[in-house]
Amino acid sequence: MIESSNERCGACAPARKIALGGALVATLSVALLIPAASGASDNPYAPSRDYDLQNVRTHLWFELDRHGVRGETTQSLSLLRDDVSILKFDSVDLDVSAVTLDGKTAQFKVVPNELDVTLPEKSKRGDHHEVTIRYTGVPKKGLYYVFPDKNYPNRPKEIWTQGESEDTRYYIPIYDYPNDRMTSEMLLTVPANWITISNGKLVGQKTEADGMKTWDWRENEKMSTYLISFVAGEFIEKDETWRGLPVRYVVPKGDESDIEPTFDRTRKMLDLFSDELGVKYPWEQYAQTSVDDFVEGGMENASATTLTTHGLVNPKLVAEDHEGSDDLNSHELAHQWFGDLVTTKDWADIWLNEGFATYFEHDWEEKHYSADDANYTFWTDQTQWFQQKRLFPSPIINRESEDSLEFAGNIYNKGGWVLHMLREQLGEEAFFAGLHHYLEVNRGQNVVTADLQKAIEEATSTNVDKFFQQWVYSAGAPEFDVSYSYDGSSHQMKLSVQQTQKVEGHVGLFDVPIEVEVATAAGRKTYPIEVSRADDTFTFPADGAPLMVLFNKGDKILSRTKFDKSAAALIYQLKNATDVVDRAEAARDLGNVKDSPDAVAALGEAAQQDSFRGVRTQSLRALGKIGGAAAEKQIIAAVSGEAKPWVREVGVEELANFKSDGDALAPKLTDLAAHDAAYRVRTAALGSLGVLKAPGAYDTLVAAVHSDSPDDLVRNAALRALGALGDDRAAPLLLEWSALGRPLESRGAAIDSIAELDKSNHDVTKALISYLNEPYFDIKFSTIFALGRRGDPAAIEPLEALLRSGDLSLGTAPYVEQQIAALKAKAGTKNTFTKDEHPPQSEQ
Ligand SMILES: [Zn+2]
Repeated sequence: MIESSNERCGACAPARKIALGGALVATLSVALLIPAASGASDNPYAPSRDYDLQNVRTHLWFELDRHGVRGETTQSLSLLRDDVSILKFDSVDLDVSAVTLDGKTAQFKVVPNELDVTLPEKSKRGDHHEVTIRYTGVPKKGLYYVFPDKNYPNRPKEIWTQGESEDTRYYIPIYDYPNDRMTSEMLLTVPANWITISNGKLVGQKTEADGMKTWDWRENEKMSTYLISFVAGEFIEKDETWRGLPVRYVVPKGDESDIEPTFDRTRKMLDLFSDELGVKYPWEQYAQTSVDDFVEGGMENASATTLTTHGLVNPKLVAEDHEGSDDLNSHELAHQWFGDLVTTKDWADIWLNEGFATYFEHDWEEKHYSADDANYTFWTDQTQWFQQKRLFPSPIINRESEDSLEFAGNIYNKGGWVLHMLREQLGEEAFFAGLHHYLEVNRGQNVVTADLQKAIEEATSTNVDKFFQQWVYSAGAPEFDVSYSYDGSSHQMKLSVQQTQKVEGHVGLFDVPIEVEVATAAGRKTYPIEVSRADDTFTFPADGAPLMVLFNKGDKILSRTKFDKSAAALIYQLKNATDVVDRAEAARDLGNVKDSPDAVAALGEAAQQDSFRGVRTQSLRALGKIGGAAAEKQIIAAVSGEAKPWVREVGVEELANFKSDGDALAPKLTDLAAHDAAYRVRTAALGSLGVLKAPGAYDTLVAAVHSDSPDDLVRNAALRALGALGDDRAAPLLLEWSALGRPLESRGAAIDSIAELDKSNHDVTKALISYLNEPYFDIKFSTIFALGRRGDPAAIEPLEALLRSGDLSLGTAPYVEQQIAALKAKAGTKNTFTKDEHPPQSEQ
């Protein structure tokens, strides 16, 4: 799964990856700064089972008016122990009307979150039963309706599901934990003009009375129940085949032109992963369906991935979209092997799903784009991981948390890094031989980390226990303090290396292979060393004073290094290091060098001439950080000559740092906002005009709000920039664009922006409060934060009412509590809820 960026922690790896245009990310940036908060309770230990679920056949009908569901599910199961007298099914808020056991009426009891069916006599291990349950419900989670209403009459009708982590039970009474696997059949009776997608193979379609049609989907490979899914509604489908299997692309009616630019590399991804792993794509179809208002970024339901429509690529924007939604699409595809074919046994080992999916995003990037691109992404992942300090003391496998994604940055980013390092240490061939063996031995089964270790050792004869101990079962990463001295008489360089991470709790000293490159006037040489002690010294031959010393060359070990280098050394490194990450690091560090014309000149040169876009980007960022007229000139020169929109955009963003020169920059930015070839650059220019509070910015931004562009990019950027501009004159316009009936993304931008404008105007607060009760998740979410920032105590009561309403799924409650606490602190009253004491709400 990839989380939607509007939930939980945006600094977490997965949020970055939700391949959204910058627009939405910026809209939700406020939310993104909030650390993840626990709202779920995912048991880190798999429960002991009473029975083995073998097949689930579910038929669903929909009560469209009340957004409800009527179901009949027949489940075959076989007892795993003697003396069981009650069969228990996870079931939340479902009205069960009848249960039969082997065709006969059975006694049952609905208790909170559970359906108990009484066996007429105590079981014997191996007994087989067939249980049929009839029920209705209006699910709060698990199954979602996105339907037109009076404010949005033209929305396509959509019903879709999201099972992970434990939400299938909200629409099917079922054993709902990953440590059981079954085959399944899903029958869906829907209006005849709808399309449906579910797991497996479409085995039948039947016309019913009253303009209805029943679709019959069957999944013959075993999967865990959180991977059960369906999508139904007014969708458009385009089909291809790949090695004889159907490949389906499904989008809401109206979005069909996005299919090709978004998905045209899917079959190449299927080729790459199947061939590298030596395990052919294991399911009967591969469907990718984009749905509106999806509660995650993407979800790897077996054979039938569900994706957010925010990942769709508009054909008019293809040229300015560097890698499209490849990160999201490759992530979910990789899960079809890692997560679906082999599935974590418990939530504590969830990195076996997510670490692999993250790794294979980068694998696709490396093989389809370039190794430089992939290495650069790992490097930025590493930076993000170290920024989230709370991740450091927690092992990847964490059995203390009851929220499987509380430490998402460890299971995604660090998990991907662990596999990256493992490949580096084993070599490409052995690494993939190990993965092949792991998949073959465990296919169709649940796994724990030890299964992976064992499979790698069996396939490669390399013992990886120590590697796993330090990187997976223990926490943290090495933090190095490095310095060197050169002795001209002995022609030796002494490198002193200290590990400075605090050794405590789950964090120990690391034992890692490191490459050191020493460049002198006579040439460069790379030396492998092994660092295992807290304090160590290594001696290298050097035929002259080193011009460049790279510790952890190419950034192959997840770590952070303090290595004080002179500006001259950094400039040399920026110009001469072979690996892009070493050049990017030099550029970044030069951003901390003040009063050095040489540094500015070198950064300017790299910003214009480095062959890799990431080094150019980092150079622009560094120049923005340094500031001053010379840096500004360099950025402007780089922007004018830059062919790649995604680099130009960064330069334009950085111009917002030159506040003292806002007057001079205004015409340049206004021109870019109107005429740059790429919309993403135009929108960045609008953003910078707002931040700079440049003269004329108000008129430019208001005009941009009234202009049309693909995906409304320009309008939404202008609405956001009006917030940064802080001119109260914009309040009525923002209020207008925040109102019901306007496009949802524009509303989100307007709501964010109006939060801090015209603060004494209670009508604005009143309007915001009215949005809290809307069914549109993104709007509700933006509004919660906007009210917090606005600081008007009138919002306290409505926010508390929202908490009490029990209408908050998706882990939103903690964010509401934070806003209430902030408002109360401001109003001088005490927050009534402590952090661990959630008020009554719907969740479990
Ligand atoms: Zn995932």
